[in-house]
Amino acid sequence: MNQIQFLEPKAGIIARRAEIQAGLAELVPADCLVTEERELVPFETDAFTAYRRVPLAVVLPETTEQVAAVMKYCSQNGVPVVPRGAGTSLAGGAIPQEDAVVIGVSKMARILEVDFENRAARVQAGVTNLRISDEVSADGFFYAPDPSSQLACTIAGNIGMNSGGAHCLKYGVTTNNLLGVKMVLHDGTVVDIGGKALDASGIDLLGLVCGSEGQLGIVTEATVRLLAKPEGARPVLFGFDSSEVAGACVSDIIAAGIIPVAIEFMDKEAIDICEAFAHAGYPMDVQALLIVEVEGSDDEMDAMLKKIIAIAKAHNVKRVKESQSAMEAASIWKGRKSAFGATGRVADYICMDGTVPLGQLSHVLAETSKIVEKYGLRVANVFHAGDGNMHPLILYNVNDPAEAEKAEAAGMEILKLCVDVGGCLTGEHGVGIEKRDLMLHQFTETDLNQQMRVRAAFDPGWMLNPSKVFPLDLAMRKAG
Ligand SMILES: Cc1cc2nc3c(=O)[nH]c(=O)nc-3n(C[C@H](O)[C@H](O)[C@H](O)COP(=O)(O)OP(=O)(O)OC[C@H]3O[C@@H](n4cnc5c(N)ncnc54)[C@H](O)[C@@H]3O)c2cc1C
Repeated sequence: MNQIQFLEPKAGIIARRAEIQAGLAELVPADCLVTEERELVPFETDAFTAYRRVPLAVVLPETTEQVAAVMKYCSQNGVPVVPRGAGTSLAGGAIPQEDAVVIGVSKMARILEVDFENRAARVQAGVTNLRISDEVSADGFFYAPDPSSQLACTIAGNIGMNSGGAHCLKYGVTTNNLLGVKMVLHDGTVVDIGGKALDASGIDLLGLVCGSEGQLGIVTEATVRLLAKPEGARPVLFGFDSSEVAGACVSDIIAAGIIPVAIEFMDKEAIDICEAFAHAGYPMDVQALLIVEVEGSDDEMDAMLKKIIAIAKAHNVKRVKESQSAMEAASIWKGRKSAFGATGRVADYICMDGTVPLGQLSHVLAETSKIVEKYGLRVANVFHAGDGNMHPLILYNVNDPAEAEKAEAAGMEILKLCVDVGGCLTGEHGVGIEKRDLMLHQFTETDLNQQMRVRAAFDPGWMLNPSKVFPLDLAMRKAG
């Protein structure tokens, strides 16, 4: 897979490699700087592993002041910067370029303040998603957005991509649970945006930062909303004879005004893969599975489930299985949340992330199968159905260039289809390099020019994550 272009590395910067590395060494402790070729290799890609570039240097600062000093140095020396969290981006958002300094926040991993009175936590940007919930769980609280990568991914990366997860149907994605950030701008200036209070006045800069994919600054701290844990939660499995019928059932549940905490979808390929890995007790005689989770008191859960079961029955549901214990519930979620890893055991894959209006779910599922079949490939669908956020995992062999090209072409067709039915290119994984060249399928040049003007207001020299999000020719015209 070699179709996606990167910016040509600036020869002047590459020639100054040793000088720049020495300059950085003045700014951070020795154990916060990586310059040896073999130690740089782990930073050459993210979870979009088909593309890789070894960066000029990696800085792993421990404080906002160190980030500011490095940003100022890079700005003054014309060195591009690529921000990095845990490097789990599926869209290539954290893949560096050869003339860039990677600033990784993995050492900034302290929880700074837990404020139950204001239901907020202030954390350094490198804290992992799951750690926030772990920290406050004993007190009856949690942090809602739950990407399946939550054991590894950082709050910084979640903010960069406006990440979601299975339980975002009810609680919203990162932007709905973020209260404030501390961010270092391209020239080293430090700004505080938002805070513990809801809805700051003025232009919503926080909304702008969330999902900006490392193009506006380096987030070093985040203040996030904490929620009280529900009284109880119960995932229920619904098995159907076809993906299309399961998709129609999802639209009807939402159309009835019912909002469970989660509605997740798996097709037969995904059920087989996940069950073999997690032994979650999924029914094996169905073609599609919904995991619907309800929460609240027993009475509330019973009442909501009654309505959902009635809708599922109208769609000839074949199996209904309620979890009977906390262990069973955990096992059901383990199967779903390990879907990408489990798929990686059987094949290489690229994961699409288009979102469609719910009424189009069945149609897009059927068309996705046709597209993938046309290229002679296989697909496993496992996704956040309640949000219409589809994740076809297109299976291929990374060592077969022809097959890799087909997988990429099939993925692009599926994403275009999502846009054509009124959806969008990305629900939660971001644009990165993966979908950058499709942005003109969703937006006009005028739309993108306006977005790039906003970007340029933060980064006039176009030095922050410069190869991402915008088609390269447009971006280069804008960057001058
Ligand atoms: C197995 C697996 C399952 C996944 N499941 C989900 C899922 O359910 N939901 C979901 O939304 N995503 C999912 N993802 C994708 C990924 O985990 C998310 O995009 C995650 O938020 C990335 O976090 P990270 O710390 O790894 O960030 P990175 O991958 O390092 O970076 C992500 C983006 O944020 C930018 N960035 C990083 N740090 C900063 C910073 N300090 N300041 C400014 N910008 C920064 C980067 O430049 C990049 O553009 C999954 C990935 C994998 C591998």
